[in-house]
Order: sequence, then C-alpha cells, then structure tokens
Amino acid sequence: MSEIREKDVILQVRGVSKVFSSKGVNVRAVTNVSFDVRKGETIGIVGESGCGKTTLGRCIVRAIDASEGEVIYKTLAGEEVNFLTLDKKQMKPIRKEIQMIFQDPYSSLDPRMTVLDIIGEPIRANYPKMPKKEREQLIKEIAAKVGLNTTYLMRYPHAFSGGQRQRIGIARALILNPQIIVCDEAVSALDVSIQAQIINLLRDLQKELELTYIFISHDLSVVEHISDKVGVMYLGRMVEFGETEKLFASPKHPYTEALLSAVPVADPDVKMDRIPLQGEIPNPANPPSGCYFHERCRYCTERCVTEAPELHEVDGRMVACHRAEELSLRGFNYDEMQ
Ligand code: SF4
Repeated sequence: MSEIREKDVILQVRGVSKVFSSKGVNVRAVTNVSFDVRKGETIGIVGESGCGKTTLGRCIVRAIDASEGEVIYKTLAGEEVNFLTLDKKQMKPIRKEIQMIFQDPYSSLDPRMTVLDIIGEPIRANYPKMPKKEREQLIKEIAAKVGLNTTYLMRYPHAFSGGQRQRIGIARALILNPQIIVCDEAVSALDVSIQAQIINLLRDLQKELELTYIFISHDLSVVEHISDKVGVMYLGRMVEFGETEKLFASPKHPYTEALLSAVPVADPDVKMDRIPLQGEIPNPANPPSGCYFHERCRYCTERCVTEAPELHEVDGRMVACHRAEELSLRGFNYDEMQ
C-alpha cells in the first residue's frame, strides 16, 4: 500500500456528472464525482443497483460522454490528456490503454466467433497490418497467461464454462497491453468459488503487469478482497471514499454502515445484525431535498432534510454527511470472517 501511495496519479476524475434526458425529463445518473487513481492500485466502487456506478465507469472509459467534469489521464507516453475534450480520432490510441471487462461473460462474447478471433479482435482493429502468425502467437501467450487451455482456442464461447468465459473477456481486455481496466461487476455472474479464482487471477495479473483497476460491484465482500480504496455511491453521488481497511472497520457514512451490516458472513452460527434501510432508493429524476439519503437514514435530523452535505475530510477519508464527526458507526466485523 505504501508503495502505491508514492506512485503516480494516472487518472483524475474531476466533478464528473452525467444527465440523461428523455421526453423532457432530466435524470442525474452521476453528480459531481471526483477521485484520483494511482498506478497499480484498485479502486472499488460500490452501491446498490441504480446508484450510478456503472454509468460512472462508462464515463471514465468514455463509452458514453459525461455531461460535465474532466477525466484527466496520464498516457503511457507520460502526457496528460482530458478525455472529455478529445475527438474520436484523438481518443483512438488512448482507448488501447483503458479497457473494460463486462458484467456478463455470457452476453459479452460474440457466439459466432471462435475464442481465437474474440481475443484477437482488438489487435485486428488496432494493428491491421500485424502478420497473422504474430497475432496468433500473441493470442496464445495472453490465453495461457489467463489460464485458458490454448488447444481449445478454435472453439466457440458456448463450449466454455462461466469462469472460462470471463477469462476470455480478461484476455481480450489484456491483449492491447492496457494501463487501466474497468471491471464492471466482472465476477457477479459467477459462483463463489469461481469468483475467488477470477479475483486471484486479476490480482496476479495486476502484480505482473502493473495494472490499475477500477472495480465496480454491488458486492462489498468482493470489493473488500481486491480494493485498496473504496468509493460508496448513493443516488449518483459519492458519499464516502477512503482506504478499504479504514472504511470497512469504521465507516463514517450511515449508508456505508448499512451496506456493511448486510455483508454475509461464512459462519452459519453468526447471527446477522442487519441495519434495515427504510423504503426504496428514491427516483433520481425526482431526488429528495437536502441529503439524498435522509428518507432512509436512521440518524436524520432537520438539517439533513433541507441542506445537502458536501464531501469533506473526516478521519483520513472523504464523507458527505452532516453528522460524520459525531456518529460512532458500526464497521464490518472481521472476527466473524475467520
Ligand atoms: Fe443521515 Fe443526515 Fe448524514 Fe444524510 S446527512 S447520511 S440524513 S445523518
């Protein structure tokens, strides 16, 4: 961790917002999100479905355009560029350096292409003159690196298990030698034991290739295993951001506390003491006044109903809660994980 702290910031997300407009209705999917990413670290982004984490990831890789803000990226050549001001042609060489692994390995692979073609597709698109023999050699090397049996590369995706398909997705993301990989619910569709294998693979690859991950997941136990820092999102806003260990041991935002209380523990004798969240996630097209979380928060005061809390530093992390300094919130009980 200390080594990572000293390393370069390679991505600065600054005030990123995304508004979707449809039939005269504006929906703020992401509001004013900022954080830094250092080379070789993993940032976990968590929150319930609909909190804006996937939209944020898509804005970062510029699969969609953010409505406001900056995404400043330090390229492999050492140049700082703001993605959001680049046109398609300027963006092309940078896309190679930032890849995405998708949620569902079943639907993200073209069923009519062989695995050899799927993994090699980014090479054909970016280096069309690369000789076939050289391309196939590269594909085999990457396939072996992610633990795929290279004798089966002429098969189609349906012949592979869920875990193997996710390995194919990882190989495809790696083949252009990226710096950053955004993993969007990359292990959510897999069984727990396969999840562990894929997470271990991602960690090994990170060490070997100095990769940087942005790991988006609704599953806090997965995020806890892989992330150096965690950002918690609620209704499009970052409500807490800090080092994983601190955030899990002593959360400062009531929403983080509630999410942590719902993380399942492996021991069937341990009784879960889940903090119930009242009601549903509010409609982002018509968010509540003041703190967006106030209708579901058991610590809500009058001030929370009228005044939106700003992100500010509390005990070494960023928190958006009026009562962050005074509340003593319950963290994740690591003893129950033993
Ligand atoms: Fe709860 Fe108030 Fe903090 Fe919002 S600002 S999380 S309502 S205590």
